[in-house]
Amino acid sequence: MIKLKGIAAASGISIGPAYKIGREELVIPKEIIRDEDIPIQIQLFEESLIKTRREIIDLQKKISAEIGQEEAQIFDAHLLVLEDRMLIEEVISRLKKEKLSVAYIFSEVLKKYIEVFSRIEDEYLKERAADINDVGKRILRHILGKVRVGLSDLKEKVVVVAHDLSPSDTAAMHKQKVTAFVTDIGGKTSHTAIMAKSLEIPAVVGVEEATTKIKPQDLLIVDGSMGIVIVDPDEETLREYRKEEEKIISVTQGFLSAKDLPAVTLDGKLVEINANIEFPEEVPSVKQHGAHGIGLYRTEFFYMNRKDLPTEEEHYHAYKYVAEQMKPHPVIIRTLDLGGDKFLSQFQIPAEMHPFLGWRAIRFCLARPDIFKLQLRAILRASVHGNLKLMYPMISGIEELEQANKILKEAMQELKLRKVPYNDDIKIGAMIEVPSAAMTADILTREADFFSIGTNDLIQYSLAVDRVNEKVAYLYEPAHPAILRLIKNIIDSGHKAKIRVGMCGEMSGEPNFVLMLLGLGLDEFSMPPQVIPEIKYIIRSVSFKEAQDIAAKALRLSTCREVEEFSQKKLREILK
Ligand code: PEP
Ligand code: MG
Repeated sequence: MIKLKGIAAASGISIGPAYKIGREELVIPKEIIRDEDIPIQIQLFEESLIKTRREIIDLQKKISAEIGQEEAQIFDAHLLVLEDRMLIEEVISRLKKEKLSVAYIFSEVLKKYIEVFSRIEDEYLKERAADINDVGKRILRHILGKVRVGLSDLKEKVVVVAHDLSPSDTAAMHKQKVTAFVTDIGGKTSHTAIMAKSLEIPAVVGVEEATTKIKPQDLLIVDGSMGIVIVDPDEETLREYRKEEEKIISVTQGFLSAKDLPAVTLDGKLVEINANIEFPEEVPSVKQHGAHGIGLYRTEFFYMNRKDLPTEEEHYHAYKYVAEQMKPHPVIIRTLDLGGDKFLSQFQIPAEMHPFLGWRAIRFCLARPDIFKLQLRAILRASVHGNLKLMYPMISGIEELEQANKILKEAMQELKLRKVPYNDDIKIGAMIEVPSAAMTADILTREADFFSIGTNDLIQYSLAVDRVNEKVAYLYEPAHPAILRLIKNIIDSGHKAKIRVGMCGEMSGEPNFVLMLLGLGLDEFSMPPQVIPEIKYIIRSVSFKEAQDIAAKALRLSTCREVEEFSQKKLREILK
């Protein structure tokens, strides 16, 4: 039995056999392309070569530091494949001639090379076939937008073990037989972790050696609440965890008693508890867990795991469905928030040095008004079917908000001309997730009807801590005094201008911070549906006055540790 420690990404306990992914078979579609797509396909190919090169060099560095230089040199052969002009030129010339997708052409050329090398008698050259195969798969994965296949044909329930899972990999787990997952890398608020919570899949990320220490079919206990993975547990440990599993179920039952009651404090202060979703299919779970409405609909998942862009009609039908299902309760649709750790293969955005600081979210949308306006029109059209609001991600200052609203006005104008009905009083929100927006929240109130605090990003930008990097995860602290002050400033600025302030970052669903946020005056909390009953239970157990005292005291503390300990103590006192 071995115990591995990682980062608790999605709570719950799951026991099952390991299913390792990584040596996946890639499915290559044979797609005909248009003349005008040729340069785009060539660019995609070249970018994939660059990305692969970077990936291999990183790997070499790691191996060289942890195992030895000699072992790292194995990858020199891989780098040589990437520089093989003959191979590259063959792909480009066949692409131009045959007009088939680069993924298909490349995989064909690859096959040919592997065949030739594996037929050669010389042992050294034979080895090259394996190198080409290996590096070829890496390149193909980049061309295909790194979507892994294999999770779809699982026959039994398993615990997925992988070096990393992209949000789209996790999205592909939807409805699959994945009961938990464990990854080598990743942080607590990576979108992969958020997806796991949404799918109610216990997850432990950042378990540095998961893929080397775990073998296929090993029995695993995944404790997503404590961030622990136990490989090959003994009978006693198994018994303990089965008991713990039962306990979790019974405590959860207790919280469930509050799920359909309003989130009102003992002295009558009512707040709104909403749910975060990524797919329309989550609406039943939203209702089941007692959410008032939807406080964050992350629409970018709509663009993932597909080759084309969603049409206006597709957007419209998805939003209409959610609006109708939730009517008369609010649904806040967030416009496309691509970038950071959410890459969409269709856009072929060149790799950036710092993707979280790069061309993402509203920046991308303002630069591509065609894509942005199409989504806005669909939201507006759907707005007549329920209580829809919209909000923009990653606003960093008033000019961006003005520009976004200007494009929204144009979209309204276009619909008016087409005589298509829409709600022209639709409420517009700004996500406050960039420190510059948090500091200028008073100015932003001029162009927004409400705020929603995105702590996942706000914390990473304010504390300079990459939210998906396990190495610095210990610094990712919602309880940092700087974060509390920023949140207070946002709420106070909103209230001064008489606009409501909500929070849709993961912090709002953390039991430890609820009392503080309530006391700071947060009007709306939005979180993964599964945690709603517990958060409601907490809010219903305290008076607003007491929560205000807790917030005031927390604001006077100087370290994260003090804030954490203080809020834990208060929570325990209140829940007895
Ligand atoms: C946030 O940043 O807090 C947020 C809710 O948005 P996302 O997690 O999708 O970046
Ligand atoms: Mg964000």
